[in-house]
Amino acid sequence: MCGIVGYIGQRKAYPILIKGLKRLEYRGYDSAGVALISDNRQLNVYKTKGKVSELETFVTQKDISGSIGIAHTRWATHGEPCSVNAHPHYSSSERFALIHNGIIENYMTLKKELIEKGHVFKSETDTEVVAHLAEELDDGDFLSTVRKVLAKIEGSYSLVFMDDSDPDTIICTKKDNPLIIGLGKGENFIASDIPAVINRTRQIYIMNDYELAVVKKDSITFYDHDDKEITKEIHEVTW
Ligand code: GLU
Repeated sequence: MCGIVGYIGQRKAYPILIKGLKRLEYRGYDSAGVALISDNRQLNVYKTKGKVSELETFVTQKDISGSIGIAHTRWATHGEPCSVNAHPHYSSSERFALIHNGIIENYMTLKKELIEKGHVFKSETDTEVVAHLAEELDDGDFLSTVRKVLAKIEGSYSLVFMDDSDPDTIICTKKDNPLIIGLGKGENFIASDIPAVINRTRQIYIMNDYELAVVKKDSITFYDHDDKEITKEIHEVTW
């Protein structure tokens, strides 16, 4: 279980995501990656084995534009540390991208079913099933698709999703793993731990198990396990 950072707003996402990952480096990790929806609405995913600084070298000369993105440092549980197994993972059509901390316990059963349906897996991770499930269950509505995915998976997770056909939205949820959302002005932040966003905002929402958040640049909408919209308390970080 390692680091998660997400950003949606008006600024360039990439430098904010990289700084956030660096602030989580103390936790240890084996690989790092980032997914951005570029200014011309293309989903770009870059990942490398090793340090965040190696990811920075890797993306030199690549398109790192975009004001929405997710980034991850991985501590491998399923599949060796390598760039293919690093997160973000994405669906075959490259429409959905996601990052995950934790373990999808029923991934073997799901993977078998998805392979029978024609999905082609690239990595050895438990996480990749979530991306293919999103594509398989896609009903054209990002939130509804994520809910259908969550109904299928078992295990522990902090999960953060992007959908390149809905480039103004990040959806995230958690179970038995930490996830917080930092409230900004015209921008919002997602992270597995407060240090990743503390230099950006001190207003934090702490996600509870099974809660789901639809994060846009100007709004955050929370839902409980029964898909009922809820109001959450803001914590002011004073340290
Ligand atoms: N189980 C996932 C993997 O092995 C996530 C690991 C993590 O929490 O960093 O890729």
